[in-house]
Amino acid sequence: MSGSNMKDVMNRFRDVVDTPYEKLKLWKEANGKKVVGCSPMQFPEELVHAAGMLPVVLQETDEAITTGFSYIYPFYCGITRNIIDIAVKGQLSFFDGLVYADICIQNRNAACTLKQVMPASYVEYVQLPTSLTRAGVMDDTIRELERIKAKLEQLAGRKIDDTSLKQSILVFNRNRLRLRQLHELRRANPGLLSYRDLQVIVKSSMLMPKEEHTELLEGLVTQLEKMKPSSLEGKRLFLSGHLCQSLKPDILDLIEGVGGIIVDDDLYTGYRYYAVDVAVDGSPIQALAKRYLEKSLPVPTRSYLPARWEKYLVERAKDSRAQGVVVLVAKYCEPHLFSYPFVKEALEIAGVPHIMLETEHEVVSLEGVRTRLQAFVEMLN
Ligand code: SF4
Repeated sequence: MSGSNMKDVMNRFRDVVDTPYEKLKLWKEANGKKVVGCSPMQFPEELVHAAGMLPVVLQETDEAITTGFSYIYPFYCGITRNIIDIAVKGQLSFFDGLVYADICIQNRNAACTLKQVMPASYVEYVQLPTSLTRAGVMDDTIRELERIKAKLEQLAGRKIDDTSLKQSILVFNRNRLRLRQLHELRRANPGLLSYRDLQVIVKSSMLMPKEEHTELLEGLVTQLEKMKPSSLEGKRLFLSGHLCQSLKPDILDLIEGVGGIIVDDDLYTGYRYYAVDVAVDGSPIQALAKRYLEKSLPVPTRSYLPARWEKYLVERAKDSRAQGVVVLVAKYCEPHLFSYPFVKEALEIAGVPHIMLETEHEVVSLEGVRTRLQAFVEMLN
């Protein structure tokens, strides 16, 4: 793959990410396949894929919230208000179904509201266990996945057998493997690829057919492996937060603009999306349940006491030799605000400097944020 081909691949990914719903609508018309939107974070997209439909992870758009104000509380987080707003405006009507897996109260309420504002659409709420230590949790997870599998079979008009589900798991594992390779390449040499481009690549994986994305990604990884990275001057930063939604590019520009180099992250539109594979031996439904219960990385939307999120964050930040941690909290994100005091304390005890910044869906002046970030980056050793 030549330099210009790399540019073409990045442009292809960017094109999908910039206007996701328009592109998906066109894709559906061209391919005649059903498209199912999955709420971010915990729904196993492999189930939708195995039914012959296209799974995509719902994304926040930049659109100003207007009509949606009448349908949801103003103190709900940006992604929830935005998705309700664009649903009310009819922009999600092309989806054949929406599946919402429980991660928080706002996400749960979003599923109820979507059922009301999109009465002609199939909207399913998926109750995966949130407390992972209680008895019977594996049986409950498998039962719920079997229930949703039957619903997806109805929607697709075909059975999901073990062979097709295993095949889908392999397709997703292959994409995750390439994303991990890319992540490690960049972690070793951040000058190879901007963090902004890494975000584009991960988000496009959530929106494109995995097979097509993996093919393009494999060419990109091969090319990057051969490239000599440009050296970067700056302070090494670990990015945490934004539990389920992607970052706006302006905040990334700001971090890099004040001399920060993002070397690693624990974002959903980052490492968390591809860190862990699903096993391919044994029962595939059980393997999906095991990934959710036993292998997923710590995150504060689930209570799993043996694997505390703050402890994990300190270890990851130290591992990546970060000089500081930037914690990005989406405004009104309750799980994150509940957990932040523990994160703050753990980072302070470990001697890892950090800064907490609140982000909003609405466009706000970033001048105050710039000043705080600049001061933070300057004082890092
Ligand atoms: S996890 Fe936070 S940002 Fe995501 S839907 Fe829930 S409240 Fe909103």
